Amino acid sequence: MFTRPPYHPVDLSRAIVQSPDLLQRGTTTIPVDVLRLDLIHPVISGNKWFKLKYHLQSAQRKGFRGILSFGGAWSNHLVAVAEAALINNFASKGIVRGERNEPLNPALQDAENAGMELLFVSRTAYGDEEALQKKMQERFPDFAVIPSGAQSAEGVLGAAEILTLVPDLAKYSHIACAVGTATMMAGLINSTLPHQQVLGFSSLKLSNTSENSLVQFLLKHASSNRWQLNYDYHFGGFGKHKPELIRFMRDLYHQTAVPTDIVYTGKMAYGLNDLIQKNFFTSRNRVLMIHSGGLQGNRSLPAGLLGY
Ligand SMILES: *Cc1c(COP(=O)(O)O)cnc(C)c1O
Repeated sequence: MFTRPPYHPVDLSRAIVQSPDLLQRGTTTIPVDVLRLDLIHPVISGNKWFKLKYHLQSAQRKGFRGILSFGGAWSNHLVAVAEAALINNFASKGIVRGERNEPLNPALQDAENAGMELLFVSRTAYGDEEALQKKMQERFPDFAVIPSGAQSAEGVLGAAEILTLVPDLAKYSHIACAVGTATMMAGLINSTLPHQQVLGFSSLKLSNTSENSLVQFLLKHASSNRWQLNYDYHFGGFGKHKPELIRFMRDLYHQTAVPTDIVYTGKMAYGLNDLIQKNFFTSRNRVLMIHSGGLQGNRSLPAGLLGY
């Protein structure tokens, strides 16, 4: 039988707001604070805990034996599902897009170490995820099926609790967040105050039209139109990066001791800094940046590249 490794509980009291004089380079400065969700847990870091919360509760209530979800080979979400299952006494299965390559990369190795059974589905067979979800639910009836990225009403509901961790929420004019599926962003929008705007920075390369999947999701799940998506800071696409981004992340860390990740938060911080330098904000604005975690994703980079 599988023996469970020691694990850390999630500790929300570690999610502090810092004012590290972030992004104060260039001529324009506006105050930017950061909510350190990356500190709540070493693996289920950041937004993943919130997005999974109501899926876990529902699985418990319905008496499922395990939870099952989907992701790519570097999915922060799958690792978080594995770890959340461990903490909550569920078995877990991860449906991974692509072939199994040995040795497993650190993300999939973490998932497996947390007891997740990985099932690899070729890109062609993976196809439409909704159909795959149905198929998996039939094949594993005692597992609760969670969409990839917990992109769901439950995910949004959980993400709407993120801002309850901010002591003086009203002082911010803008909330900035990284975007993958826009589930966290929808939750943030639904919990902002009427004078606040949410700025999302897409880590995916998407065309700026009203038809892309993020906009569709937000129109369905966000309760107001006080939001804006930025598409200019994907650095080549999801999981891609450029030397300029690496340099920015290194400098940011050296100046503020805030580490960011290459897939999501580094791109958001870069984009936010760029907007500040381009005078997007007025002098009366104050921004809260959500550090949504994901630092383990930096293991895909050569060691030492970021300096942390
Ligand atoms: C998963 C993840 C996101 C994306 O969240 P969505 O709700 O899918 O938009 C953002 N930041 C980090 C660090 C993540 O791991």
